[in-house]
Amino acid sequence: MPAIIRQVDLVERVKRYDPGADEALLNRAYIYAMKAHGSQKRASGEPFVAHPLEVAAILTDLRLDSATIIAAVLHDTIEDTGTEREDIDRIFGPEIGALVDGLTKIKKLDFVSREAMQGENFRKLLLAVAADLRVLLVKLADRLHNMRTLGFMPPEKRKRIAEETLDIYAPLAGRMGIQEIRDELEDLAFRNLDPDAHDTIARRLADMTDRNGQLVEEVEHELRVKLSAQGLSATVSGRRKRPYSIWRKMERKSIAFEQLSDVFGFRIIVDDAPGCYGALGIVHTAWPVVPGRFKDYISNPKGNDYRSLHTTVIGPRSQRVELQIRTADMDEVAEYGIAAHALYKDKPGGGARPGAVPAESRAYQWLRRTVDLLAEGDSPEEFLEHTKLELFHDQVFCFTPKGRLIALPRGATAIDFAYAVHTNVGNSAVGAKINGRMTPLFNELQNGDEVEIVRADGQMPPPAWESLVATGKARAAIRRATRASVRRQFAGLGRQIVERAFQRAGKPFSDDKLKGALPRLARGSIEDVLSAVGRGEMFSGDVIKGVYPEHKDERRGADGRDDARQARTNEAGSGGAPPSPNAVPIRGLDRDLPVRFAPNGGAVPGDRIVGILTMGEGVTIYPIQSRALAAFDNHPESWIDVRWDVEPGENRRFPARLALQSLNEPGSLAQIAQVIADHNGNIENVSMARRSADFTDVTIDLSVFDLKHLNAIMSELRAKPNVSRVERVLG
Ligand code: MN
Repeated sequence: MPAIIRQVDLVERVKRYDPGADEALLNRAYIYAMKAHGSQKRASGEPFVAHPLEVAAILTDLRLDSATIIAAVLHDTIEDTGTEREDIDRIFGPEIGALVDGLTKIKKLDFVSREAMQGENFRKLLLAVAADLRVLLVKLADRLHNMRTLGFMPPEKRKRIAEETLDIYAPLAGRMGIQEIRDELEDLAFRNLDPDAHDTIARRLADMTDRNGQLVEEVEHELRVKLSAQGLSATVSGRRKRPYSIWRKMERKSIAFEQLSDVFGFRIIVDDAPGCYGALGIVHTAWPVVPGRFKDYISNPKGNDYRSLHTTVIGPRSQRVELQIRTADMDEVAEYGIAAHALYKDKPGGGARPGAVPAESRAYQWLRRTVDLLAEGDSPEEFLEHTKLELFHDQVFCFTPKGRLIALPRGATAIDFAYAVHTNVGNSAVGAKINGRMTPLFNELQNGDEVEIVRADGQMPPPAWESLVATGKARAAIRRATRASVRRQFAGLGRQIVERAFQRAGKPFSDDKLKGALPRLARGSIEDVLSAVGRGEMFSGDVIKGVYPEHKDERRGADGRDDARQARTNEAGSGGAPPSPNAVPIRGLDRDLPVRFAPNGGAVPGDRIVGILTMGEGVTIYPIQSRALAAFDNHPESWIDVRWDVEPGENRRFPARLALQSLNEPGSLAQIAQVIADHNGNIENVSMARRSADFTDVTIDLSVFDLKHLNAIMSELRAKPNVSRVERVLG
């Protein structure tokens, strides 16, 4: 078991390439991680803290800035210990806090099921969550260390992690130009996914090396001699290829190992770009060139800024030999990718830069450009096709507290999230915790948000939510729930009415009896019947006759009118309180709902009316011609079928509003008032606005018995010479 990296060693590793690094902060991070992970153990039995420290060490090989190194040391604290983001911000500053936070979000992706998440989406998600490229670098190192220690995991988990590494993380390392990490990730994954194939290739590679004896050294030597003979100073190094790249080539070209000739690769490092082409000429003169293998990535750099010359020749002992020719600068990019390159280029006068990456530095520009490249690959095998990325921009990815991924359209709110989890969660939602903080339900969600829905039983979604959601699923569910809620209210009222009606008639009532009568009543369910009675669409007398076809209603005859009123009267009789004379005489409503007339104009018997149910306000009665109803066109579930419940000769008054235009002549208003008084109308309120020198606009709120009464008043007013126009106001 390897020893845990010591504090001084970690600091030393950073100082070697970055002498200005914040030593105290590095030490603090080391101690902080030690304390936070405490006695936690890895699957290998090692103390857990060995892992983040190894990850940090890998990143020191990439010569990353100390913010990234510290983030690596802390990368598992939020997720695996009780650490809060605020704590990290406070001690290590918001830059490191943000890096650790990004890593925590990515870590949640580990719980996302493969079925739910195609590789492609996963990569996009990774990029979206990791707003800072350094987060991805830490993640790669994290994955590399986990792959190195994968042997301690159960086989099923090992397979999943290895597949994911091959699908996502190795290509990601490649795109970021970190070949070393890419190669190692691929090989480790290959070894875990197909141990037999891996062993076979490794064995045959060893055989081949034995057979070819000192071939690598031989070629290296010859190259050095030939290059220096031409006055080129160069370093030459040879290597055997890795099992995975050989395996891939065998698969891709459907060839056997025996046919695979170029398993040796050599690298020539020269001083400058002209030197590269000089070396190429020397190589091509010395050995026969394999046609079609020459590539010039110096004049045409790869997307990740990889630059090099590639060629293959037939070398000593007729072995095919691959060659890469480049400068030391180009080699840095190839080996270390973005990160190290960035640090190197920014060194003023050769010294290493301290910690963070200033926004205007070349390093920063490099990071930016690489993000763009990652996001906007221009060939099909590039990471993200542009068109798909556009689609992706329309989405936000959020998580449940258990790490389930919920993909939503951009602009979605916690309400959408709740309905995406489950309709019941949506219907019972009363609040949301986003990243641990209580937040209004209608706040727009951001990529990577963890959303916890706070629920309460017996809740109904307010119809207003419909305009606050971005998904069709949520909208439809809210509409359904609202409709069902209104329907339940009517059914409850209907049941009261029906039970009392049966009582009055001296007939026993039960749901079973009613069920038997459903065919006669032409309704599909008991609830249908009850809510129809509650709405006033069906009369309780009809229900009694449906259940007891012989029954005769003695008091009211066959029409059985006035159910709702009867229910009220009965209740008043038994409960003691007299019925309020001001109760709105409307049928078809639950008496628990407050009822009022539309404030601007009202309604009078004789008007065709409709009730609008709004949460928190109850029911408002509008004449059917009212313009205010347009606002509810898209909310059919708010519309309630109501009818008047007024006896002839009852002499109750109802509100109406008239708009008149009268001549500015003495006595005009008196004339108008006289007409209304003559007709036994009550003026409740009058307001006037002078329109011009000749005319005044008069608005009169009055109360009348019914529509006939109101029309009579209006006709009489129109007949007056001082009145030029009379109109009813309907809101
Ligand atoms: Mn980790």
